[in-house]
Amino acid sequence: MSESILVVEDEPSLQETLAYNLKKDGYVVEAVGDGRSALEAARRLKPDLIILDIMLPELDGFEVARTLRKEMTTAILMLTARDDEIDRVVGLEVGADDYLTKPFSMRELLARVKAQLRRTRLIREEMEKSGEATKHETLTFGNLVINLMRREVTLDGAPLQLKPKEYELLLFLAEHKSQMLSREFILERVWGWDFIGDSRTVDVHVRWLRQKIEADAANPTRIVTVRGGGYRFEG
Ligand code: CA
Repeated sequence: MSESILVVEDEPSLQETLAYNLKKDGYVVEAVGDGRSALEAARRLKPDLIILDIMLPELDGFEVARTLRKEMTTAILMLTARDDEIDRVVGLEVGADDYLTKPFSMRELLARVKAQLRRTRLIREEMEKSGEATKHETLTFGNLVINLMRREVTLDGAPLQLKPKEYELLLFLAEHKSQMLSREFILERVWGWDFIGDSRTVDVHVRWLRQKIEADAANPTRIVTVRGGGYRFEG
């Protein structure tokens, strides 16, 4: 079965060259030229790999990657034009699987694509072999279990009543276990860019969560406060 690749690049000649060379290598390719079409195509195709340019009309590549990361595990290879984009590309903000800085050779791109798809295939096989595919639908921290499929959280086996934002915050913290997360970063990722409010919103939700998941909310051990920084989830 041919692997499918979504190419997101607004520069027509580069888009065409990418699509042509990938097809020649045996991949099924769909190409789009703006961020909004990228989201639509990714959701429809569920491709094996997305090659994503950063500077795009409508939504930029950062925004597209952030959105898709929440919805699917598809590997993302980002195309950057400037060195100062790289930190954001590989950092927490996007967490791209790989990136290439423009200009790049087609040979280099094809090598990266191949490597990325091989990795995706191996991970998938591993997951199928060990049954991890089903195990990954829950995150377990001692007596606290987050069921991703059902969006349900249990403590000692009993379901907790969480508001949607409390759930999203807990999930976000849990997915970044042991990492210090600033209030601003949490606010941006859980509430979004367009949220009107300030970082106290985060504090309030953390307080509510602590009352539900901590043995002693006054002395939290799961969601700890990092002085002058933000919060860290300890599990
Ligand atoms: Ca561009």
